[in-house]
Amino acid sequence: MEIITQNDYFIVKRMAPGVFAAIAKPGTGAWSNAGFVDLGTELLVFDAFNTPVAAEELRKQAEKLTGKKVKYLVNSHYHGDHVFGNQVFEDLPIISTELTREWIKDKNVIGDVDVEFEETQKYLDNLILQIESEQDEIIKQSLSNQYLEMQVLLKQIPSMKLTLPSITFENKLVISGTERHVELYCFGGGHSPSDTFLYVPKEKAAFMGDIVTDNLHLPIFHPEEFLTTLQSTKTKEIDVLLPGHGDIGSNEKVKTMIDYVTMLKEAARGAIAAEVESEDFVSSFVIPEEFKEWKGMQGIKRNLRTVYDFYAKDVEKTRTQSI
Ligand SMILES: [Zn+2]
Repeated sequence: MEIITQNDYFIVKRMAPGVFAAIAKPGTGAWSNAGFVDLGTELLVFDAFNTPVAAEELRKQAEKLTGKKVKYLVNSHYHGDHVFGNQVFEDLPIISTELTREWIKDKNVIGDVDVEFEETQKYLDNLILQIESEQDEIIKQSLSNQYLEMQVLLKQIPSMKLTLPSITFENKLVISGTERHVELYCFGGGHSPSDTFLYVPKEKAAFMGDIVTDNLHLPIFHPEEFLTTLQSTKTKEIDVLLPGHGDIGSNEKVKTMIDYVTMLKEAARGAIAAEVESEDFVSSFVIPEEFKEWKGMQGIKRNLRTVYDFYAKDVEKTRTQSI
């Protein structure tokens, strides 16, 4: 895919006419991918990176490349690496689901700057210890990348302010321009309590947020909603997509995510049915070949625990109901 331009934080690629990906360079303060769509007379930006400096560059580059102004920002979900740059777009309508807005408001509070600064510094000190003692090379690399990202964030803390979405929707929102329109969809959560993806029908292109990532054990919030959301993308004809982390690809990446979540679900349910305890399940788990090289700060273990607990609760519920 053609590289249009690049800078300290991200690489811009043209996914389709009028549809651009801003792919994060690791360890620079962008941390996750963003994208922008030329609606005709103005632009729509999808996600705002982990820091205002990276977001500022995004707004600048999008406007410079197209000669048009940004009119809207969309937040795919509440995680900081997608919304901490929101303040750069505070003069514009910022769009998310109602639930994502609530989670940004509750979870991303920036309190007293000195305290935040001190706590982040402590977190970074602790991270160094973790990196030093980590035996698994892949996890070590993921932790080191997080360290670099958090260092950029640390410097930005004094100038950061929580900037909330101002327009919310529930399941679907269509934004029309003179050249093309975009559709925002939310079928629940999966990776977070509420995940939105963006579809450009005219170009058969999509920005997936973190429901699709590249070779990464990204946190799972709700395995069943995750599968529903991923399956729902099949009703759209997608030729090219941008994952929340990693490079552009086809909807093969959706299939890989479905395989991953299904594999975790089946393994956890099998273990629960065989009355294997959670910790035994996690420690004895053999990662299937196709997911062995996947990165992530906690590897596959966190997701094994989450998915096990999720289905264990289901079994618990059925037991109590039958008593
Ligand atoms: Zn996320």
